[in-house]
Amino acid sequence: MGILDEAKYQKFMDDDKTPRCQERVWHTMGNWGQSAQCCRAGKAEDDGVWHCKQHSNVEVRRRRKKKGEKYDKEWAAMRLRIHGPHFHGVLEQIANGHNDARELAREALDEFNGGG
Ligand SMILES: [Zn+2]
Repeated sequence: MGILDEAKYQKFMDDDKTPRCQERVWHTMGNWGQSAQCCRAGKAEDDGVWHCKQHSNVEVRRRRKKKGEKYDKEWAAMRLRIHGPHFHGVLEQIANGHNDARELAREALDEFNGGG
């Protein structure tokens, strides 16, 4: 084996040792799909399991957190819509001269902030 061949062989062996990302990914094909091992090279080892950058625990956690924040925002917007009629009722009472507008508003807000 010449020097070049040896280098090539060594590279081949190294490539073979490069761990692949062990994440299973789902490929959709029309109405069905199949799962296969992620084709990217492993970049990060999480507790002995290799993951590519996209599937690394750090990145997955970061994306999950981002999704969570988006969900929280949507949930907050939905709660505002649900509570809208109640707030409207409170405003009507204030407009009609409720004796303690501040207390009424505080109660409505506490209910909104405390409730799920
Ligand atoms: Zn991957």
